[in-house]
Amino acid sequence: MLAAGVECEPGEENLLKLTTLSQKLWPKFLHDLSKDSKQNPEYRNEGTLVVAINRDDATRLEFTYNFQKNLGINLEWLDGYETRKLEPHLNPSIVAGVYSSNDHQINNRLLMRSLEEAFVHKEGIIHEYTEVTDIETHNESVKGIIVDGSLIETDVVIIAAGAWSNNINGLTKECIPPVRPVKGQMLSLKMEQNSPLLKHVIWAPNAYLVPRNDGSLLVGATIEENGFNPDLTAGGIFSLLEASWRVIPNIEELPIKEMWAGFRPTSRDDAPILGATKIKGLVMATGHHRNGILLAPVTANAVSELILNGETTKEVEPFSIERFNNNIEH
Ligand SMILES: Cc1cc2nc3c(=O)[nH]c(=O)nc-3n(C[C@H](O)[C@H](O)[C@H](O)COP(=O)(O)OP(=O)(O)OC[C@H]3O[C@@H](n4cnc5c(N)ncnc54)[C@H](O)[C@@H]3O)c2cc1C
Repeated sequence: MLAAGVECEPGEENLLKLTTLSQKLWPKFLHDLSKDSKQNPEYRNEGTLVVAINRDDATRLEFTYNFQKNLGINLEWLDGYETRKLEPHLNPSIVAGVYSSNDHQINNRLLMRSLEEAFVHKEGIIHEYTEVTDIETHNESVKGIIVDGSLIETDVVIIAAGAWSNNINGLTKECIPPVRPVKGQMLSLKMEQNSPLLKHVIWAPNAYLVPRNDGSLLVGATIEENGFNPDLTAGGIFSLLEASWRVIPNIEELPIKEMWAGFRPTSRDDAPILGATKIKGLVMATGHHRNGILLAPVTANAVSELILNGETTKEVEPFSIERFNNNIEH
Protein backbone atom coordinates (compact mmCIF):
# COMPACT_ATOMS: atom_id res chain seq x y z
CA MET A 1 0.00 0.00 0.00
CA LEU A 2 1.13 3.51 -0.74
CA ALA A 3 -0.96 4.90 2.07
CA ALA A 4 0.43 8.19 3.35
CA GLY A 5 -3.06 9.33 4.38
CA VAL A 6 -4.95 6.61 6.20
CA GLU A 7 -1.81 5.26 7.89
CA CYS A 8 -0.92 8.59 9.50
CA GLU A 9 -1.07 8.32 13.30
CA PRO A 10 -0.74 10.94 16.04
CA GLY A 11 2.96 11.74 16.51
CA GLU A 12 3.72 11.18 12.81
CA GLU A 13 3.01 14.72 11.61
CA ASN A 14 6.65 15.19 10.51
CA LEU A 15 6.72 11.87 8.75
CA LEU A 16 3.53 12.81 6.90
CA LYS A 17 5.42 15.49 4.93
CA LEU A 18 7.84 12.84 3.71
CA THR A 19 5.24 10.16 2.99
CA THR A 20 2.98 12.63 1.16
CA LEU A 21 5.85 13.88 -0.95
CA SER A 22 6.84 10.32 -1.84
CA GLN A 23 3.24 9.47 -2.68
CA LYS A 24 3.22 12.35 -5.16
CA LEU A 25 6.52 11.19 -6.67
CA TRP A 26 5.21 7.70 -7.46
CA PRO A 27 3.77 8.37 -10.96
CA LYS A 28 7.04 9.95 -12.15
CA PHE A 29 9.08 7.22 -10.47
CA LEU A 30 7.06 4.62 -12.39
CA HIS A 31 7.37 6.56 -15.60
CA ASP A 32 11.18 6.68 -15.21
CA LEU A 33 11.24 2.99 -14.30
CA SER A 34 9.27 2.07 -17.39
CA LYS A 35 12.10 3.45 -19.58
CA ASP A 36 14.44 0.73 -18.30
CA SER A 37 12.06 -2.11 -17.47
CA LYS A 38 9.32 -3.87 -19.38
CA GLN A 39 7.77 -5.30 -16.20
CA ASN A 40 4.47 -3.76 -15.16
CA PRO A 41 4.38 -3.40 -11.35
CA GLU A 42 0.59 -2.99 -11.45
CA TYR A 43 0.09 0.42 -9.84
CA ARG A 44 -3.58 0.76 -8.92
CA ASN A 45 -5.33 4.01 -8.05
CA GLU A 46 -8.85 3.02 -6.95
CA GLY A 47 -8.01 4.34 -3.49
CA THR A 48 -8.46 3.08 0.04
CA LEU A 49 -11.59 2.60 2.09
CA VAL A 50 -11.43 2.48 5.89
CA VAL A 51 -14.53 0.83 7.34
CA ALA A 52 -16.28 0.75 10.72
CA ILE A 53 -18.31 -2.32 11.53
CA ASN A 54 -20.14 -1.07 14.63
CA ARG A 55 -20.70 2.16 16.57
CA ASP A 56 -17.52 1.73 18.66
CA ASP A 57 -15.45 1.47 15.47
CA ALA A 58 -17.29 4.42 13.99
CA THR A 59 -16.39 6.60 17.00
CA ARG A 60 -12.73 5.62 16.69
CA LEU A 61 -12.84 6.15 12.94
CA GLU A 62 -14.35 9.60 13.39
CA PHE A 63 -11.53 10.56 15.77
CA THR A 64 -8.88 9.39 13.28
CA TYR A 65 -10.73 11.04 10.40
CA ASN A 66 -10.79 14.41 12.21
CA PHE A 67 -7.10 14.11 13.16
CA GLN A 68 -6.08 13.26 9.58
CA LYS A 69 -8.42 15.83 8.02
CA ASN A 70 -6.90 18.55 10.24
CA LEU A 71 -3.50 17.68 8.80
CA GLY A 72 -4.85 18.43 5.34
CA ILE A 73 -5.26 14.82 4.18
CA ASN A 74 -7.87 14.47 1.47
CA LEU A 75 -10.56 12.18 2.93
CA GLU A 76 -14.27 11.72 2.48
CA TRP A 77 -16.64 10.57 5.25
CA LEU A 78 -19.26 8.05 4.04
CA ASP A 79 -22.29 6.55 5.76
CA GLY A 80 -22.86 2.78 5.70
CA TYR A 81 -24.92 2.88 2.51
CA GLU A 82 -22.37 4.99 0.62
CA THR A 83 -19.55 2.74 1.82
CA ARG A 84 -21.28 -0.42 0.64
CA LYS A 85 -22.10 1.21 -2.68
CA LEU A 86 -18.36 1.43 -3.32
CA GLU A 87 -17.81 -2.18 -2.25
CA PRO A 88 -21.03 -4.26 -2.39
CA HIS A 89 -19.42 -7.32 -0.74
CA LEU A 90 -18.87 -5.45 2.50
CA ASN A 91 -20.82 -6.76 5.48
CA PRO A 92 -24.31 -5.14 5.50
CA SER A 93 -23.68 -4.12 9.10
CA ILE A 94 -20.90 -1.69 8.11
CA VAL A 95 -21.98 1.62 9.67
CA ALA A 96 -19.50 4.09 8.18
CA GLY A 97 -16.42 4.47 6.03
CA VAL A 98 -13.71 6.92 5.05
CA TYR A 99 -12.58 7.08 1.45
CA SER A 100 -9.03 8.17 0.66
CA SER A 101 -8.59 8.75 -3.05
CA ASN A 102 -4.81 9.36 -2.86
CA ASP A 103 -3.84 6.14 -1.05
CA HIS A 104 -2.99 3.82 -3.91
CA GLN A 105 -1.27 0.45 -4.15
CA ILE A 106 1.42 -1.34 -6.15
CA ASN A 107 2.42 -4.98 -6.47
CA ASN A 108 5.62 -4.98 -4.41
CA ARG A 109 6.93 -8.28 -5.78
CA LEU A 110 6.54 -7.14 -9.38
CA LEU A 111 8.05 -3.80 -8.41
CA MET A 112 11.19 -5.52 -7.15
CA ARG A 113 11.51 -7.41 -10.45
CA SER A 114 11.01 -4.18 -12.31
CA LEU A 115 13.68 -2.37 -10.27
CA GLU A 116 16.05 -5.28 -10.76
CA GLU A 117 15.51 -5.25 -14.52
CA ALA A 118 16.03 -1.48 -14.69
CA PHE A 119 19.18 -1.64 -12.57
CA VAL A 120 20.69 -4.35 -14.75
CA HIS A 121 19.63 -2.47 -17.88
CA LYS A 122 21.64 0.50 -16.57
CA GLU A 123 24.59 -1.89 -16.23
CA GLY A 124 24.27 -2.30 -12.48
CA ILE A 125 25.59 -5.61 -11.11
CA ILE A 126 23.63 -7.45 -8.44
CA HIS A 127 25.24 -10.07 -6.21
CA GLU A 128 22.37 -12.01 -4.66
CA TYR A 129 22.80 -14.11 -1.50
CA THR A 130 26.08 -12.35 -0.80
CA GLU A 131 26.57 -11.11 2.74
CA VAL A 132 28.49 -7.95 3.53
CA THR A 133 30.00 -8.78 6.92
CA ASP A 134 31.98 -5.57 7.55
CA ILE A 135 32.41 -2.03 6.37
CA GLU A 136 36.03 -0.88 6.32
CA THR A 137 36.77 2.73 7.16
CA HIS A 138 39.95 4.74 7.41
CA ASN A 139 40.32 8.27 8.84
CA GLU A 140 36.53 8.61 9.07
CA SER A 141 36.05 7.72 5.38
CA VAL A 142 34.64 4.59 3.80
CA LYS A 143 37.29 2.35 2.32
CA GLY A 144 35.25 -0.67 1.25
CA ILE A 145 33.16 -3.67 2.23
CA ILE A 146 34.19 -7.14 3.30
CA VAL A 147 32.58 -10.04 1.44
CA ASP A 148 33.74 -13.62 1.98
CA GLY A 149 36.70 -12.27 3.94
CA SER A 150 37.93 -10.08 1.07
CA LEU A 151 37.94 -6.32 0.81
CA ILE A 152 36.07 -4.78 -2.11
CA GLU A 153 37.17 -1.18 -2.35
CA THR A 154 34.63 1.57 -2.77
CA ASP A 155 34.22 5.15 -1.62
CA VAL A 156 30.46 4.97 -1.06
CA VAL A 157 28.43 2.43 0.93
CA ILE A 158 24.66 2.73 1.36
CA ILE A 159 23.27 0.89 4.35
CA ALA A 160 19.98 -0.48 3.03
CA ALA A 161 19.95 -3.82 4.82
CA GLY A 162 16.44 -3.52 6.27
CA ALA A 163 15.95 -4.94 9.76
CA TRP A 164 19.52 -6.30 9.61
CA SER A 165 21.05 -2.85 9.15
CA ASN A 166 22.62 -2.75 12.62
CA ASN A 167 24.29 -6.09 12.11
CA ILE A 168 27.24 -5.10 9.95
CA ASN A 169 30.63 -4.91 11.68
CA GLY A 170 33.23 -2.19 11.52
CA LEU A 171 31.21 0.92 12.36
CA THR A 172 31.46 3.16 15.42
CA LYS A 173 28.39 3.32 17.64
CA GLU A 174 27.09 6.63 16.30
CA CYS A 175 27.01 5.21 12.75
CA ILE A 176 25.15 2.00 13.59
CA PRO A 177 21.48 2.59 12.74
CA PRO A 178 19.21 1.77 15.70
CA VAL A 179 16.79 -0.54 13.89
CA ARG A 180 15.04 -3.67 15.05
CA PRO A 181 12.74 -6.17 13.30
CA VAL A 182 9.00 -5.75 13.79
CA LYS A 183 7.44 -8.93 12.52
CA GLY A 184 4.34 -9.00 10.32
CA GLN A 185 2.41 -12.11 9.35
CA MET A 186 0.30 -11.99 6.19
CA LEU A 187 -1.64 -14.32 3.94
CA SER A 188 -3.26 -14.25 0.55
CA LEU A 189 -6.55 -15.70 -0.64
CA LYS A 190 -7.57 -16.62 -4.15
CA MET A 191 -10.53 -14.66 -5.61
CA GLU A 192 -12.05 -15.21 -9.05
CA GLN A 193 -9.76 -13.14 -11.24
CA ASN A 194 -12.67 -12.05 -13.46
CA SER A 195 -15.04 -11.20 -10.62
CA PRO A 196 -12.96 -10.09 -7.65
CA LEU A 197 -14.74 -9.37 -4.37
CA LEU A 198 -13.07 -5.98 -4.04
CA LYS A 199 -11.59 -3.12 -6.03
CA HIS A 200 -10.35 -0.83 -3.26
CA VAL A 201 -7.81 -1.45 -0.56
CA ILE A 202 -9.89 -2.00 2.59
CA TRP A 203 -8.78 -1.07 6.08
CA ALA A 204 -10.87 -2.90 8.67
CA PRO A 205 -10.42 -2.90 12.42
CA ASN A 206 -7.35 -5.18 12.97
CA ALA A 207 -6.71 -6.12 9.31
CA TYR A 208 -6.39 -4.74 5.83
CA LEU A 209 -7.29 -6.33 2.50
CA VAL A 210 -5.54 -5.61 -0.78
CA PRO A 211 -6.94 -6.94 -4.07
CA ARG A 212 -4.32 -7.67 -6.75
CA ASN A 213 -4.78 -7.89 -10.52
CA ASP A 214 -4.21 -11.66 -10.60
CA GLY A 215 -7.17 -12.25 -8.25
CA SER A 216 -5.09 -12.55 -5.08
CA LEU A 217 -6.49 -10.91 -1.99
CA LEU A 218 -3.77 -10.00 0.47
CA VAL A 219 -4.69 -9.94 4.13
CA GLY A 220 -2.35 -8.30 6.59
CA ALA A 221 -0.72 -7.84 8.91
CA THR A 222 0.22 -8.59 12.49
CA ILE A 223 2.60 -6.26 14.33
CA GLU A 224 4.86 -8.27 16.63
CA GLU A 225 7.98 -7.61 18.68
CA ASN A 226 9.42 -11.09 18.31
CA GLY A 227 12.94 -10.61 16.96
CA PHE A 228 13.73 -12.52 13.77
CA ASN A 229 11.40 -15.41 14.65
CA PRO A 230 9.92 -16.32 11.23
CA ASP A 231 7.14 -18.64 12.51
CA LEU A 232 3.58 -18.27 11.35
CA THR A 233 1.27 -18.69 14.31
CA ALA A 234 -2.29 -19.98 14.65
CA GLY A 235 -3.21 -16.88 16.66
CA GLY A 236 -1.68 -14.47 14.15
CA ILE A 237 -3.32 -15.99 11.09
CA PHE A 238 -6.60 -16.56 12.93
CA SER A 239 -6.82 -12.91 14.00
CA LEU A 240 -6.25 -11.68 10.42
CA LEU A 241 -8.82 -14.08 8.97
CA GLU A 242 -11.38 -13.29 11.65
CA ALA A 243 -10.97 -9.52 11.25
CA SER A 244 -11.28 -9.70 7.47
CA TRP A 245 -14.17 -12.17 7.55
CA ARG A 246 -16.09 -9.74 9.78
CA VAL A 247 -15.97 -7.08 7.05
CA ILE A 248 -16.15 -9.32 3.96
CA PRO A 249 -18.09 -12.46 4.98
CA ASN A 250 -17.77 -13.82 1.42
CA ILE A 251 -14.09 -14.61 1.94
CA GLU A 252 -15.41 -17.71 3.80
CA GLU A 253 -15.00 -20.02 0.80
CA LEU A 254 -11.91 -18.52 -0.77
CA PRO A 255 -8.90 -20.84 -1.00
CA ILE A 256 -5.82 -19.83 0.96
CA LYS A 257 -2.98 -19.23 -1.50
CA GLU A 258 0.01 -18.34 0.62
CA MET A 259 1.07 -17.33 4.13
CA TRP A 260 4.28 -15.61 5.11
CA ALA A 261 5.99 -13.35 7.59
CA GLY A 262 8.32 -10.40 7.07
CA PHE A 263 10.33 -8.02 9.22
CA ARG A 264 9.75 -4.28 9.15
CA PRO A 265 12.98 -2.37 9.74
CA THR A 266 11.93 -0.14 12.60
CA SER A 267 13.89 2.65 14.23
CA ARG A 268 13.47 3.97 17.76
CA ASP A 269 10.98 6.62 16.64
CA ASP A 270 9.41 4.55 13.80
CA ALA A 271 10.73 7.04 11.21
CA PRO A 272 13.32 6.24 8.53
CA ILE A 273 17.05 6.92 8.87
CA LEU A 274 18.25 8.70 5.74
CA GLY A 275 21.25 10.53 4.40
CA ALA A 276 24.86 11.27 5.29
CA THR A 277 26.71 10.15 8.43
CA LYS A 278 29.86 11.29 10.24
CA ILE A 279 31.81 8.81 8.10
CA LYS A 280 32.48 10.22 4.65
CA GLY A 281 30.87 8.01 2.00
CA LEU A 282 28.61 6.13 4.42
CA VAL A 283 24.95 6.76 3.57
CA MET A 284 21.83 5.58 5.39
CA ALA A 285 18.68 4.35 3.66
CA THR A 286 17.04 2.25 6.33
CA GLY A 287 14.46 2.17 9.15
CA HIS A 288 11.51 2.54 6.79
CA HIS A 289 9.27 0.49 9.13
CA ARG A 290 5.83 -0.01 7.49
CA ASN A 291 6.43 2.54 4.71
CA GLY A 292 9.43 1.29 2.78
CA ILE A 293 7.58 0.83 -0.50
CA LEU A 294 5.74 4.13 -0.18
CA LEU A 295 9.01 5.93 0.63
CA ALA A 296 11.04 4.35 -2.20
CA PRO A 297 10.90 7.35 -4.59
CA VAL A 298 11.79 9.98 -1.99
CA THR A 299 14.56 7.74 -0.62
CA ALA A 300 15.97 7.10 -4.09
CA ASN A 301 15.97 10.83 -4.87
CA ALA A 302 17.63 11.77 -1.60
CA VAL A 303 20.31 9.08 -1.82
CA SER A 304 21.20 9.82 -5.44
CA GLU A 305 21.27 13.58 -4.83
CA LEU A 306 23.62 13.02 -1.92
CA ILE A 307 25.95 10.68 -3.80
CA LEU A 308 25.98 12.47 -7.12
CA ASN A 309 25.88 16.12 -5.96
CA GLY A 310 26.84 15.99 -2.29
CA GLU A 311 23.52 17.66 -1.35
CA THR A 312 21.19 16.63 1.45
CA THR A 313 17.67 17.31 0.21
CA LYS A 314 15.59 19.45 2.59
CA GLU A 315 12.88 16.86 3.09
CA VAL A 316 15.21 14.22 4.53
CA GLU A 317 17.13 16.57 6.88
CA PRO A 318 14.91 15.69 9.89
CA PHE A 319 15.61 11.99 9.32
CA SER A 320 19.39 11.96 9.75
CA ILE A 321 20.93 9.35 12.06
CA GLU A 322 22.25 12.29 14.11
CA ARG A 323 18.85 12.62 15.81
CA PHE A 324 19.67 9.51 17.84
CA ASN A 325 23.17 10.50 18.80
CA ASN A 326 22.47 12.64 21.86
CA ASN A 327 21.70 9.52 23.82
CA ILE A 328 23.43 6.48 22.34
CA GLU A 329 22.12 3.20 23.68
CA HIS A 330 21.51 1.05 20.60
C1 LIG B 1 3.93 -7.57 6.69
C2 LIG B 1 4.49 -6.31 6.13
C3 LIG B 1 3.67 -5.47 5.41
C4 LIG B 1 4.18 -4.28 4.88
N1 LIG B 1 3.35 -3.47 4.16
C5 LIG B 1 3.86 -2.34 3.60
C6 LIG B 1 3.05 -1.49 2.80
O1 LIG B 1 1.87 -1.77 2.60
N2 LIG B 1 3.59 -0.37 2.27
C7 LIG B 1 4.88 -0.01 2.48
O2 LIG B 1 5.31 1.02 1.98
N3 LIG B 1 5.69 -0.81 3.23
C8 LIG B 1 5.21 -1.94 3.80
N4 LIG B 1 6.00 -2.74 4.57
C9 LIG B 1 7.34 -2.27 4.90
C10 LIG B 1 8.33 -2.54 3.81
O3 LIG B 1 8.24 -3.87 3.39
C11 LIG B 1 9.72 -2.22 4.35
O4 LIG B 1 9.77 -0.92 4.88
C12 LIG B 1 10.73 -2.34 3.20
O5 LIG B 1 10.76 -3.65 2.72
C13 LIG B 1 12.12 -1.94 3.66
O6 LIG B 1 12.95 -2.08 2.55
P1 LIG B 1 14.49 -2.30 2.73
O7 LIG B 1 15.05 -2.49 1.37
O8 LIG B 1 15.06 -1.24 3.62
O9 LIG B 1 14.61 -3.65 3.59
P2 LIG B 1 14.29 -5.13 3.12
O10 LIG B 1 13.16 -5.15 2.17
O11 LIG B 1 14.18 -5.92 4.39
O12 LIG B 1 15.60 -5.56 2.33
C14 LIG B 1 16.85 -5.62 3.00
C15 LIG B 1 17.72 -6.57 2.20
O13 LIG B 1 19.04 -6.49 2.69
C16 LIG B 1 19.58 -7.80 2.74
N5 LIG B 1 20.67 -7.81 3.74
C17 LIG B 1 20.57 -7.73 5.08
N6 LIG B 1 21.79 -7.73 5.65
C18 LIG B 1 22.69 -7.84 4.64
C19 LIG B 1 24.11 -7.90 4.58
N7 LIG B 1 24.84 -7.86 5.69
N8 LIG B 1 24.70 -8.02 3.37
C20 LIG B 1 23.95 -8.06 2.23
N9 LIG B 1 22.60 -7.99 2.22
C21 LIG B 1 21.98 -7.88 3.41
C22 LIG B 1 18.40 -8.66 3.16
O14 LIG B 1 18.61 -10.01 2.83
C23 LIG B 1 17.28 -8.02 2.34
O15 LIG B 1 17.22 -8.60 1.06
C24 LIG B 1 5.53 -3.94 5.10
C25 LIG B 1 6.36 -4.80 5.80
C26 LIG B 1 5.85 -5.98 6.32
C27 LIG B 1 6.76 -6.91 7.08
